[in-house]
Amino acid sequence: MKLPSSPPRRKRPDSVGFAIVGLGGYALNQMMPRFEQTERAHIAAIVSGSADKLRRVGEAYGIPPDARYSYADYARIAADKRIDAAYIVLPTGMHAAWAIRAFAAGKHVLCEKPMALSSADCERMIAAGRRANRKLMIAYRSHFEPYNLEAMKLMRQKAVGDIRLVRTEQSYRMGPTSPGENWRTNRALAGGGPLEDFGIYGLQSALYLTGEMPESISATTFRPTDDPRFAEIFAHVSSQWRFPSGAVAQLVTSYDSAGANFAHVRGTKGVLIMDPATSYAGQKMTLEVGGSRELNPGDPSVQFARQLDHFADAVRDGTAIKTPGEMGLRDVRLIEAIYASAKAGRTVDLTPDGRMRSPRR
Ligand code: NAD
Repeated sequence: MKLPSSPPRRKRPDSVGFAIVGLGGYALNQMMPRFEQTERAHIAAIVSGSADKLRRVGEAYGIPPDARYSYADYARIAADKRIDAAYIVLPTGMHAAWAIRAFAAGKHVLCEKPMALSSADCERMIAAGRRANRKLMIAYRSHFEPYNLEAMKLMRQKAVGDIRLVRTEQSYRMGPTSPGENWRTNRALAGGGPLEDFGIYGLQSALYLTGEMPESISATTFRPTDDPRFAEIFAHVSSQWRFPSGAVAQLVTSYDSAGANFAHVRGTKGVLIMDPATSYAGQKMTLEVGGSRELNPGDPSVQFARQLDHFADAVRDGTAIKTPGEMGLRDVRLIEAIYASAKAGRTVDLTPDGRMRSPRR
């Protein structure tokens, strides 16, 4: 695990105190170290099932022993005035329950992607946030990352003309494992697998690059029958979308093919190529309109701290959240439509908010 040599400084007196809920790979190696780069966010508490982790991580980050919580003690965060918000970084199938408990404790919630495994859970989370009058944000970091922000702007400005074709692919080859060993292959914690975990970046890109919602989706899934990695989840998920403008998108995602993470947008005048599109760092982006131009709009690694400060501003100043629970719900509805289409072997029609219409005759 990556730990700091000295506890991070707090920069503003109104800095938002976070309880980090779940000390796994992403929390420890990506997000917790980025608090150092924020203006208005700090780690106030940690929540983990491991007493050893609580001690080691608590010491490294200067978190006092009475701000180190076990899962059994979680409800006690309600009385801890140092904590303004809970950052839920647990396996996806646990997001809803632990976010709702945070709201019940009077805390704001920053929740990792995907928001939950069902639209019903997403709706329960949104309702709990409203009841508690607290903020809910989904940690879609690409909305704070310079390459993706520049791509959104270029597409709004019609830099490739009218958008006709979108292709996204998010794949990697998972090593040998099984549902008991790795939550990412466990249906109760990971849903269908690669789409929720990695393909969601392509799903998000297709939406924020076109600025449209699909009006229909047709999809295919594949699950080998003799591979413990895929005892409970899919190996590949592929879907085709049609947008009201007439643009179409093809999205593929896999846990069993060589690594890829790209988004291509082809319009009437040219193409935007993002490859890799949504990494932690190392993004590349080329605009081909007439000639070919490589774009370098900024350092992608600012996305983590900017996301935290955006949430902190919403908590302190009441500013609007760019990636609210409603966006997480919308995306989970689309995931449900993809699986429904694949299961039924037919095209699914959608309402503008991503709900499935009744089947075509
Ligand atoms: P991880 O497996 O590294 O960590 C999960 C943590 O949850 C571990 O500390 C584990 O001990 C704990 N845990 C508690 N109860 C558990 C249970 N019943 N089963 C399994 N683990 C349990 O996973 P991660 O990669 O840190 O992912 C955590 C969340 O963060 C997921 O929602 C994932 O989608 C999200 N994530 C987001 C990004 C991003 O770029 N935004 C990247 C990676 C992960």
